[in-house]
Amino acid sequence: MNTAKKLLALLFIAAAALACKTLIPTTAIGAPESNPVEGTVAVTEAGIPSPEESNPQVGSSGAGDSLYPNFGNGGYDVQNYLLDITVHDVSISDLTATTTIAATATQDLVAFNLDFIGFDITSLTVNGDPAAFSRSGQELTITPAKPLAKNESFTVVVEYKGIPEVMNSESLPVQMGWVIFEGGIFVLSEPDGAATFYPVNDHPSDKALFTFRVTVPKPYEVAANGVLSDKKDNGDTTTYLFKLRDPMASYLATINIGEFNEETMQSPSGIPIRNYYEINLPKGVNRPFARQGEMLDYFSQIFGPYPFEVYGSLVMNTDFGAALENQTISIYGMDMIDLNDVSGTELTVAHELSHQWFGDSVSVADWSDIWLNEGFATYSEGLWVEHLHGRAGLDEWIKYIYNEVKAFPEYFPAPGNPRADDLFNGGVYSRGGLTLHALRLEVGDDAFFKILKTYYDRYKGGNASTKDFIAVAEEVSGKDLKQFFDNWLYQDTLMPIPELGLGK
Ligand SMILES: [Zn+2]
Repeated sequence: MNTAKKLLALLFIAAAALACKTLIPTTAIGAPESNPVEGTVAVTEAGIPSPEESNPQVGSSGAGDSLYPNFGNGGYDVQNYLLDITVHDVSISDLTATTTIAATATQDLVAFNLDFIGFDITSLTVNGDPAAFSRSGQELTITPAKPLAKNESFTVVVEYKGIPEVMNSESLPVQMGWVIFEGGIFVLSEPDGAATFYPVNDHPSDKALFTFRVTVPKPYEVAANGVLSDKKDNGDTTTYLFKLRDPMASYLATINIGEFNEETMQSPSGIPIRNYYEINLPKGVNRPFARQGEMLDYFSQIFGPYPFEVYGSLVMNTDFGAALENQTISIYGMDMIDLNDVSGTELTVAHELSHQWFGDSVSVADWSDIWLNEGFATYSEGLWVEHLHGRAGLDEWIKYIYNEVKAFPEYFPAPGNPRADDLFNGGVYSRGGLTLHALRLEVGDDAFFKILKTYYDRYKGGNASTKDFIAVAEEVSGKDLKQFFDNWLYQDTLMPIPELGLGK
């Protein structure tokens, strides 16, 4: 994720111009991520009592997240989602849909929950039999006709219709999930927007495979995660079938509807790329994306092989103040693209692309681990600067980030313990990135890059916590790094980097 930072943009541009005229882009690097809108109220927390306390065979209404106890659910593990959605009228998103979920019970279950917001549910079955259900906030509680036994595989089919509800997340006051705008639809769900368009176990700890079958009226087109495996002309409508062959966290599921210019290419080593640009975007909108192939190959070399079978970017013709690393297809609001500063925008492109390794393939175990996503993606911007301009370029970039944190400490809290209402604060980005650079200086280049590769290799396709990362860093470097990480991740005051003359 990257969000637009308008508040202090002018200050940063001035600072960048002073600090470094050539290497530092004027957009976005490391600026505060917090609270672009005031007065928005989070509405989705259900706050319902926990029936599981009275009956051990009721699945928990939360996945156990330390920041967001109601996100996700307990008692089962999803293997597969099939989203079959027909959008009748794109301008209002009037839709009918069927979501089919294949899951396995991890305990005996007389009832379990999904997260789901809005819509009329017209049918709900478990293993083919109609099931009772009730709703409270985002919690959909399902009581199957026959209880499920631990380790039993089961299938839930939910049919629903209506217009998706608008929601703002507690974590970030921007419109989230399925978003309608003039010209189409985009989906941006980190961390809890997924439930606005499908019933889901909405926590990154339950990754699953996804298939999307989406029908839209002509002339609209669909771009979703994964590979387009079929496209069917039904006369007035078109049905798109997208398949994702690698497990994905629920918040990364995206369905985008518009009219697109599609661009296909390959990285030098052969990773396929398809980009989608809404047709009314300015000419040259693809320029910041021209080096994605090089980035894919460079990051594959330093992190490990690219995790997925395809990559690409999608730019919508609307400003939504964010870019999000949806798996295999990052999406961008037009306000994240500055065609007068292509090399600056390229850093945002490198950021989202690097998330395919850190965030998408290796996903957070708990939302409080978010610096493992954002600190890594921020440092990846620096690694791209280093790739282009050498170590001196990276050093200048680090100095810029460091001085910015020093100048505006209130926007950059300690990265290791974000607040629930400020998940994407500047600290998890900039101080997270600086933590990785400090680690590199602490253990040396060889150990540092071996740490990144080992960490990625061990946790790819799954989840990792801050503790897991620290354990890998200690194992590979042979050093006790507990105090080091405590200083960098959890203390209010930014540590010095004496090697660069910073913070003394
Ligand atoms: Zn990010």
